[in-house]
Amino acid sequence: MFCLACITPCPGSLCARCRLALRPAPEVSVGSGLIGVAGFVHEGPARRLVHALKYRAVLAAAEPLADAMAARIPASASALIPVPRATLRAFRHGVDPAAVLAAGVARRTGLPVVDAIKPRWWWRRHAGRSRDERSAVPFVPTGSFVPKNAALVDDVLTTGATARAAASALEGLPTLVLVATCASRMERGESPFGGAVTVQPFSGPTDQSTLRARTTEARRFDALGRGSVGPPL
Ligand SMILES: [Zn+2]
Repeated sequence: MFCLACITPCPGSLCARCRLALRPAPEVSVGSGLIGVAGFVHEGPARRLVHALKYRAVLAAAEPLADAMAARIPASASALIPVPRATLRAFRHGVDPAAVLAAGVARRTGLPVVDAIKPRWWWRRHAGRSRDERSAVPFVPTGSFVPKNAALVDDVLTTGATARAAASALEGLPTLVLVATCASRMERGESPFGGAVTVQPFSGPTDQSTLRARTTEARRFDALGRGSVGPPL
């Protein structure tokens, strides 16, 4: 077999060197009451695994990522909602990464996958667009029931704009986004596109009580700011 990240021959799916280079990501605040939990920092072998899945449809690359995501998802999470790729993009690359990752986490945790949002037919990439354009919501709800404490699932967290749009399509009900990798720049509190989001690193462990405290805090903020909240935790 070959290492999925660096293609050197090795007995498992990842060579020892790549396995050692995987760096756990801190929990981050994504804005709009969303907390981001990632398997790894988006660099080195983790980045190569995501790219293999996303652009070359190498499904085996999802396995080590799903391992890390399943290990980090808080015990309070009740269901997994994949953030879908734009239909044309999924068609072009032959894979919908969030759906593959959600299925992998579901197999490991027993959590149900709920297809609660669908993409609009097409939307442009975030890079280079104005702030107003970026805030346009590219998702619509499918009408599926969204259980309390359902977590969004995506491949990568960069500015958080996609995750916020997905949560917004569900009226802010999901308060957690579980991703394979998180852009390392987020740790320094910078958006790669110029301060569009406030991102704060949080170095503590992601346990159930921590998440509940932070979620309650986020909901209170939402109640003040937007006047709409989901059901109490
Ligand atoms: Zn390797």
